[in-house]
Amino acid sequence: MRLAGKTALITGGNSGIGLATARLFVAEGARVAITGRNQATLEAAAKALGPNVLAIVADATDVEATEQAVAQAAEKFGKLDIVFANAGIAGNTPIGSTKLAAFESVIRTNLTAVFFTVQAAVPHLRDGASIILNGSVISVLGNPGYAAYAASKAGVRAMARVMASELSPRGIRVNVVSPGGTSTPIWNRTAPTPDAVVALEKRISQTIPLGRFGKAEEVAKTVLFLASDDASNIQGAEIFVDGGATASPAGAPAFRG
Ligand code: NDP
Repeated sequence: MRLAGKTALITGGNSGIGLATARLFVAEGARVAITGRNQATLEAAAKALGPNVLAIVADATDVEATEQAVAQAAEKFGKLDIVFANAGIAGNTPIGSTKLAAFESVIRTNLTAVFFTVQAAVPHLRDGASIILNGSVISVLGNPGYAAYAASKAGVRAMARVMASELSPRGIRVNVVSPGGTSTPIWNRTAPTPDAVVALEKRISQTIPLGRFGKAEEVAKTVLFLASDDASNIQGAEIFVDGGATASPAGAPAFRG
């Protein structure tokens, strides 16, 4: 077991990538606190994952609630070894029809809340802890309609470099996992029916060299690697889990003869 005796906090641990990571961490021996806003899905996740999981309702955009959630996790488990700042939202902010509130909501959730999650966690972290931030391929791909989301994730990536500098004296590592298109409920609004999901994944897969959407479990395995001692000398890095979408886009099926 790669996380035996370790303690972790995962924001957005009641769905998608965060939930898959919580499941994997528990299987690897960790005790895990998960947060989210939705009490019902948090409770369902805690029930499914068993006694080594603590579910805490906390809106990541509420600094005080975040500080309380981290304190509650530390009170239950002791000092934390791992933080996965994963909670995030999608958001369409095209030029021409975007209201300030919509733009700011994406930045507040995906960028500002990540900073304050880390700030709240740092006093409760063991020296040598590992922090993983969830980025996105959209920080570099230029997808139309995603200005706020792309900026938030590029900000996360930039912020990780600064955090790595500030926290290196305590041996705390800060890295980014950046998923490409991954099957999770985040796509529910874009593709509200099973048929729409299939069509969406088929279309986006044309832009991915490996020709398919990712699974939440594939991102979780990379988070596990970054969280574990196997990544003990990896600091301030970004790992894309995207089937080659950012590294070799010209290899995508859309470009094949
Ligand atoms: P989901 O929608 O399945 O999960 C998002 C999670 O974030 C939920 O647990 C949600 O819980 C939580 N969350 C959202 N807003 C808040 C908030 N204000 N406070 C607390 N929790 C919050 O999507 P994914 O698993 O796909 O997304 C996880 C991360 O992965 C996000 O940061 C996303 O940007 C990133 N990502 C996803 C990709 C994909 O294709 N799936 C691609 C690239 C990056 P609740 O609703 O209970 O608040």
